Amino acid sequence: MWDCDLVLLALGFTGSEKTLAEQFGIEMDFRTNIKATEKDYATNVPGIFTAGDMRRGQSLIVWAISEGRQAAHHVDKYLMGQSNLPLKGEGDLPRV
Ligand SMILES: Cc1cc2nc3c(=O)[nH]c(=O)nc-3n(C[C@H](O)[C@H](O)[C@H](O)COP(=O)(O)OP(=O)(O)OC[C@H]3O[C@@H](n4cnc5c(N)ncnc54)[C@H](O)[C@@H]3O)c2cc1C
Repeated sequence: MWDCDLVLLALGFTGSEKTLAEQFGIEMDFRTNIKATEKDYATNVPGIFTAGDMRRGQSLIVWAISEGRQAAHHVDKYLMGQSNLPLKGEGDLPRV
């Protein structure tokens, strides 16, 4: 324990901004992350997907890239009925 006069917390990402989520009626968790699972990255609102920090909370760039690519597959499938975009499970992307 150190005595001090002032503590400054320099936080980067401290949660998603609520404005859009509230306006679209998108469910959030108690940390204001947008709710969606890794199954398909879909939110409770049809046609709205989420990935990266907005879904996981503050994380790493490798997760943002990985989730972005996974989510792209599911968005494509939602729009086209099928997708040829790679998924991690098929060995096309590195596992992180
Ligand atoms: C200070 C700091 C240092 C970090 N250092 C590292 C590190 O060394 N290594 C590492 O792996 N990770 C690091 N990270 C974490 C990494 O940056 C994030 O995990 C990653 O950038 C998340 O990517 P994302 O695409 O999910 O979100 P973001 O990169 O945050 O992209 C979200 C984008 O959406 C935009 N946006 C937000 N609201 C709206 C809106 N209403 N309309 C339109 N656009 C909007 C934002 O402007 C932003 O461009 C760091 C983070 C911070 C804050």
